[in-house]
Order: sequence, then C-alpha cells, then structure tokens
Amino acid sequence: MRQSQLFGRTVRETPADAEIPSHQLLIRAGLIRQLSSGLYTLLPLAQRSARKIEAVIREEMDRIGGQEINMPLVQPADLWRESGRYQQMAGKELLAFADHNGREHVLAMTHEEAVTSHARGEINSYRQLPLMVYQLKLKFRDELRPRAGLIRVREFTMKDAYSFHTSEEDLDAFYMRTYDAYARIFARCGVPATVVESDPGMIGGTAAHEFMHVTPSGEDRLILCPTGDYTANAEVAAFDKGRLDFGPTAEREEVATPDCETIDEVADFLGVPTAQTIKAVLYVADGEFVFAAIRGDLDVNEVKLANALGAVELRPATEEEIRAAGAEPGYASPIGLDDDVKVVADDSVEALANGVAGANRPGYHLRNVNYGRDFTATVVDIALAQDGHTCAVCGAALEAANGIEVGNIFKLGTKYSESMGATYLDATGRQQSLIMGCYGIGVGRLLAAAVEASHDDDGISFPVAIAPYEVHLVPVGKGAEVVEAADALYEQWSSEGYEVLYDDRKESPGVKFKDSDLIGLPLRVTLSQRTLGDDAYEVKCRWKADREIVPKDGFSPRTYLDEAWAHMIDIPAPVSPD
Ligand SMILES: [Zn+2]
Repeated sequence: MRQSQLFGRTVRETPADAEIPSHQLLIRAGLIRQLSSGLYTLLPLAQRSARKIEAVIREEMDRIGGQEINMPLVQPADLWRESGRYQQMAGKELLAFADHNGREHVLAMTHEEAVTSHARGEINSYRQLPLMVYQLKLKFRDELRPRAGLIRVREFTMKDAYSFHTSEEDLDAFYMRTYDAYARIFARCGVPATVVESDPGMIGGTAAHEFMHVTPSGEDRLILCPTGDYTANAEVAAFDKGRLDFGPTAEREEVATPDCETIDEVADFLGVPTAQTIKAVLYVADGEFVFAAIRGDLDVNEVKLANALGAVELRPATEEEIRAAGAEPGYASPIGLDDDVKVVADDSVEALANGVAGANRPGYHLRNVNYGRDFTATVVDIALAQDGHTCAVCGAALEAANGIEVGNIFKLGTKYSESMGATYLDATGRQQSLIMGCYGIGVGRLLAAAVEASHDDDGISFPVAIAPYEVHLVPVGKGAEVVEAADALYEQWSSEGYEVLYDDRKESPGVKFKDSDLIGLPLRVTLSQRTLGDDAYEVKCRWKADREIVPKDGFSPRTYLDEAWAHMIDIPAPVSPD
C-alpha cells in the first residue's frame, strides 16, 4: 500500500475527549474515526487488523467444531417478546422501531432469540447434539454513555457462538473447550487475559466467566487474589467476612444518639467498632421498597442485591418512600417496619451478635440487636468485595484491579429454550428442553485491548499477528536513486507476499519516523542516500529501542518478522479434537 493514497491521516494532537491510550492512539494513527457518539468507522489500517483478529477467531471456533452462520441484525420484536427481553429492555439498550408496514422490529444486541428460534426448526433429535454455531456479526446496543473509543460503543462486530446440549455435563465439557479456545484467541492476538467469575446479567443463565485484560484503562472493576486462586468481577466477587465475637446475646435497649447520622458517628459515640453496627441501605427495586441491612463496615453490592431480588431496576429510595415504609431516614431499623416491607440482610448481619441498629426514631439507636430474635429477613450475600478484604479460598488480602472485558462465556441452561419452546427428543423419545451455552468476543474492543497491551509514548506497537501490515518501508531524502530503490523493493517484497506499507509521501524524515512509530508496524526498513551508498538498510523493530544498519546483500524481512512472532506472548496448546 502506498501511504500517499492511504485513506486515514495521522493526527498530531490528542483528541480532547480521548482519555485512555487506545482511544488516543487509534485516532492519532489514523485507524478509526467517530461518525457520531459511540459510532466509529474503522479506516483501512484498523479494518485490516480487525480482519486478522476475525481470522484468528474463525480458526479457533472451527477447531472446536463451530459452524459459521449469519443471522439478521434486524429482528421482529415478537421474537424478543417470547424470551421476555423485549419487555425488559425495549426503549433502553434495545433499540426498537416500526418498519413502514407498522411492524415492530429491534436491532439485535445479541442473537440468543434468533438462534433459539432456528434451533426449534433445525434440531429435533438428541442424535444431532451437541453442536455449536457462531457468527461474526454487527450488533447494536443503545448505550447511554458510549466512551473510551472502541471500548464502549453502540454498534460493533461481535463473534457470538451458541452451543446446544442434552445435559448439563455435556455443556460443562464444551464450556471448558470454549474456555481453552478463548485463551488461545487472546494470546494469538497479543492480549494477556485473565479469566474472572462474572454476573450473567441481562443474558441470564447459571454461570458466566469473563476474559479480562487487566489494565488501569479498563472500566470493569476486578477482585484478584495475589496467589491466583480467586479472580472475579467486583460485581459478583465473594470474600471472607470473618465472624466477630461481641459476647453472648444481651437484652435489647434503646439509647439516645444525638446528632449521630452516619455509621462512623454512631460507632464513635457508642464506643463500638463499625463492624458491630447494622447499616440500613434503602432501595426501590422494580417499584417495590426494599430494606437492605449490612454490617456497618461493609458496603452493599447493588448487582448482587438486584440478582437476589430478581430485579431489573434498582435505585435508592427517596425520604418520602422511606417514611411511607415506616422507617426513619438516618435512623432506619429493620425492627418495627411495616409488615409487608421486604427486608434483605447480608449474611454478615445474620452472624453478628449484639449489633447497633437504628431505632426508627430521630436521635435514637438500638443496642444488642440480634438477627433471629429481633428481626428476620431474606439472608444472602449482598456485600461489595474491596481491596484488602480476605480471600475466602486462602485467606490472603484480595486486591482490586481494573480490566477491559474482551470476551465472555455463559452457561444459559434452558433460559431461552424453555421460554421459547426449543426442544428435542431424547433417546427414550421424550421431549426435552435444549441446554444452551453462549460465547461472545467483541472484535473492535479486542483491537483496542491489543493497543492498550502494546504501546509506548510514541505510539502503537502492533503484535505481528494482528498488525495491519508487516513492514513499513520508509525512504528518506530526495535523491532519485533512493526513490528508485524503494519502488523496486516495494514491488519485490509485495510480490514475495510481504504486507508492505510504503511511505512514498514527500515528507521530512522527522515526520515519516514520527508517523511510523505512531502506526507501529512490527518492522521498519529505512532507505537513505547514505545507507544505500554503504549497500545497507536501516532496520528498526518497533518493540526495540535501537536501530540497526544491515547489509543489503541477503537481507530478508523474514528474519525480523520471525523475531516478531517469537516476541508474541506464549500461546497455549490447541484444544484437542473431540
Ligand atoms: Zn486466595
């Protein structure tokens, strides 16, 4: 490719709204352009890189027996009503609209409904199972706050795969094969990825894992044990809350706590640790008032709480709503609420003896509150794991980190097959619901993660496996012989099958080198009057600091590209065939 003709110019200034390196560099290097909020065009360099990523994904999906299909982006709303997700999400992340016949449609954000509807028609016997289909397909998600370049967008290409099974055991086995295939995909794209337990969220199902690229630029919060025995998304992370001994159960008493409205003030005033207090956090979940109680030194994890309630929408309750439920804002107590108020207690409260809780009366608290004797609730884990909490597996101090989610895998079970009636006949001729898994990878986000994983102050440093081109051929100086030599090399290397970006622009050496570092192809070969006079080229590998002068005779880009491949992160062994 002659760079003079390349669609997509480099940009010197960092875009004002770009906060993370991949967003800044993808724009500055001329790889992406924003068309509108959350809507990006991949320019030729990014598109070439994306196609390489897609090729890697295809190979690994095919290796585990995937069959590629292609389902429509535009889908009838009725299909999404069958699964129940239209009611849940239309007008939010799910963009719904009517066609000119007035028929309601949606732009698919995932394809569980479509693939399940096809499974109804194509699968009827256990003999056809297991099987997996996948596609590389546009999705649309009407994000409220698109951000971070290709990380959180509204329209994106995703590899989504769906597997069908006759038993949970078979799904488990295939889930692990996908897990291994994913590890290879991310390594082959040069992106170190950590697997974490995650929240099935709006996809639903029984278990889910995310593949995270750990980086401060990530917007997902992770909880990791430094020993490596526990990793989870903070949304679902568990930890050891300990069991604190505050003596034998004592009689409950009301005490005046003037001007104490926060947990710290109350604990201070009464001379008890915050871990001996019971904090009330009040919500409205899908229109219903909810009283959440948690040990005073912990915070409520709203994802866990929403999951425990089966709620779609959770928001803090207003003072009016709190009073209407019979509670006193600032002094709310699980004791003495209206009978129909839903109370959810973290298991830390169940384990707490002689706690301090609000008295539902301004200026007063209750001492020696004990779960079971004084109040009851739905007891679940609703606590937010944080940096420094104790690992439930080994007792080490957990650490918080940030990550970019590059892929996810879900055990759907029968969530969609039951609601949509997708069944097969088992060996005894009985009708059974299909057991399903689904598996996603965002292509653009993976490209962004690769840039996050591999860049420096000067620009991107592409892993060779997904670099838009392998070689940057950069003649400098004005001499006709330099241009002739560069033209000849461009022809020769292109005909030998190398992917060459040829900087044939009339720019200064400084500009060309800056752009070359910014775009970050693995190998740069510079021609100048001086080096040609010495029968040599100047060679620079993007990941190394030094340039080398190399004799022209016997020079081959292959030597350096082999080195670039060796520089990739370790790739796990392929998954063995079934
Ligand atoms: Zn641990």
